[in-house]
Amino acid sequence: MLILFDIDATLLTTTRAGLISMAEAGQRLHGESFDIGQVEFAGRLDPLILSDALRRNGLEPTPHLLRAYRDAYVRCIEARLREPGLARTCPGVPELVAALESVPGLTLGLLTGNFAESGMMKLRAAGLDPDRFPIRAWGDDSPHDPPSRDHLPPVAMSRHAERCGSVIAPERVVVIGDTPHDVRCARVNGCRVLGVGTGMYPAARLLAEGADHAADTLEDTREVVRWLLEPLRASVA
Ligand SMILES: [Mg+2]
Repeated sequence: MLILFDIDATLLTTTRAGLISMAEAGQRLHGESFDIGQVEFAGRLDPLILSDALRRNGLEPTPHLLRAYRDAYVRCIEARLREPGLARTCPGVPELVAALESVPGLTLGLLTGNFAESGMMKLRAAGLDPDRFPIRAWGDDSPHDPPSRDHLPPVAMSRHAERCGSVIAPERVVVIGDTPHDVRCARVNGCRVLGVGTGMYPAARLLAEGADHAADTLEDTREVVRWLLEPLRASVA
């Protein structure tokens, strides 16, 4: 079984360090008037967010401009995340991750819109070792153009197959996330999905979007683990 965690507002919060760093990086490169106010962030892929931000400021998102923006963003967020306490895990996350690590036959991973470099920085800043999530699908791992979060579960599943030597069925994969984007990317790929209301969307909204299960937070470790492991118990019975 493979459990894929979203990062922002699911595993951790950075107190908007990502958003602020994207604005700061844009202003460093393109001047003080660079404005990301209208850009949608939650649950979206970083490459799409950067493209939108450039377009909103009248700039064509060429590979060159995107690369420069990405590099500047990573430098900004790296500096910002040095502030102690800015990044912290969401309620119940350390306990849940520890509980899942002790379950045989279960692999943990990440499915996130973050670039690898900024995603790893966020995890470390919040006190989560990225090595605890050996399967990763990052924001720029979509093999298609335009990229979409919907393309990421198959990426994670193929990485899991490479690591374990056997193909995993989609119903043995769970996505845990805080936005309708997380819910949809799981549903369209036949994966189970647990919505968590620690971001902009309450648990009820994530259920309405099609989540199989939802919780306000991940604090009830026993109940969350029970739901996650239901298919394992069914296969043993
Ligand atoms: Mg999120």
